[in-house]
Amino acid sequence: MLDRKLAIIVPYRGRPEHLARFVPHMAEYFQRDPNLSLHIVEQAGTGIFNRGKLKNVGYALARNASDYVCFHDIDYLPLAADYSWSPRPARLIWHGLTHGEDWHTFLAAVVLFDKPSFERINGFPNGYWGWGFEDAELGVRCDMAGIAWDKRDGTFESLPHAHQGIDPNGVPTKEALATQALFWQRRPGLKALMPQDGLSDLEFTSLPAAPLLLAGQPVPNFWHHIVDIGGPG
Ligand code: UDP
Ligand code: MN
Repeated sequence: MLDRKLAIIVPYRGRPEHLARFVPHMAEYFQRDPNLSLHIVEQAGTGIFNRGKLKNVGYALARNASDYVCFHDIDYLPLAADYSWSPRPARLIWHGLTHGEDWHTFLAAVVLFDKPSFERINGFPNGYWGWGFEDAELGVRCDMAGIAWDKRDGTFESLPHAHQGIDPNGVPTKEALATQALFWQRRPGLKALMPQDGLSDLEFTSLPAAPLLLAGQPVPNFWHHIVDIGGPG
């Protein structure tokens, strides 16, 4: 059993086949641990996806009822991973990553955060609309705040899907080029931007949380939030 209350936060939209694998897997993996809550944070509407802002929303929704959080992509299922409390951030995934990630610098996919560290960096940036680079900025935010993070080399099963950052010809998508440009544009002034952009200026509205179901029955502490986070500009 987890020794403190963990909230797993999953940014989500439009991947029903992954949701259908993830929810039963997590219910089974954690054996309905009473110290675990799980939050699917679904972006309402059809506008461009914003993973960083959704993760901030999940944090805002879950923070009061949890001691620490884990930001979790829906397409990685834990097989052997350590979700226990950590006083500093920790990447929980290594085995099962599929895009040639760098062991030293990759801080994404499945990342644990204690609340003080996450609040010190003011959360994720809210302004990355489209695939990628909000996690690259997360890493820089940690560096700037002097927050070191751990690597726990957990093993996960990855669920396949079409890559939204690179097209079938290996060319970066328009979305990826835009978020990459934003990352480099913000980088020199990030120290000044960080306190102004993130948890501190987060705006959203949420429908009442609905329980996630398995075989028609609610899974205790598993929640589905549909949230309106607006759009770019
Ligand atoms: N995601 C989603 N719908 C989308 C895009 C992203 O639900 O249209 C969520 C989902 O949790 C996914 C995560 O954001 O696992 C990361 O996005 P993606 O899998 O596209 O990134 P990559 O595989 O390139 O890391
Ligand atoms: Mn993915």
